[in-house]
Amino acid sequence: MLVRLVYVSYANNAMPDSEIKLILEKSQANNKKVKVGGVLIYSDRYFFQCLEGEREEINQTYLRIARDPRHSKCVVIAYSQINSRLFPAWSMAYVSFNGLGNELVFKYSEKGLFKPYEYTAGQATEFLAEVSEVSEMTDAPAVAA
Ligand code: FAD
Repeated sequence: MLVRLVYVSYANNAMPDSEIKLILEKSQANNKKVKVGGVLIYSDRYFFQCLEGEREEINQTYLRIARDPRHSKCVVIAYSQINSRLFPAWSMAYVSFNGLGNELVFKYSEKGLFKPYEYTAGQATEFLAEVSEVSEMTDAPAVAA
């Protein structure tokens, strides 16, 4: 059974791009092995992540992520059976995201701020569908060598 889990969490420290890159590298390597995919958005210390794949694999992956000491306050905001993936090409895509002054954020918020803990399941899903269509996805943030 194919499912999608969306959660929000808060980084315990401000995360430089180099840290995000390490998280993505590990995620991509692990997820590829179990056919899990999705997208990770990081903005203003909020993580917003979508995991798509087989139910047992998604549950196990999420439980591992939720124990990670780099973030806390993990809240699952959407969990559903799905017919198809929004991010079929990505073991874990990254969207470089500036929550401020972003049209997409404005569309789903009252005051134009990225407050992902306030998203309903419906808002989270619609937001992700738009992210999958309009955003430029990459493997990781660009990090100076
Ligand atoms: P190892 O990488 O060997 O890690 C062993 C233990 O050390 C784990 O408990 C790990 O959490 C901890 N650890 C590793 N590096 C650090 C560090 N720099 N600081 C503190 N503790 C550390 N993993 C996935 O597989 N798929 C994902 O999609 C995914 N998304 C993530 C999203 C976020 C926002 C975060 C913070 C982490 C994510 N991770 C993801 C990583 C996940 O939390 C685990 O760290 C990882 O899956 C463990 O991989 P491993 O079993 O190979 O163990």
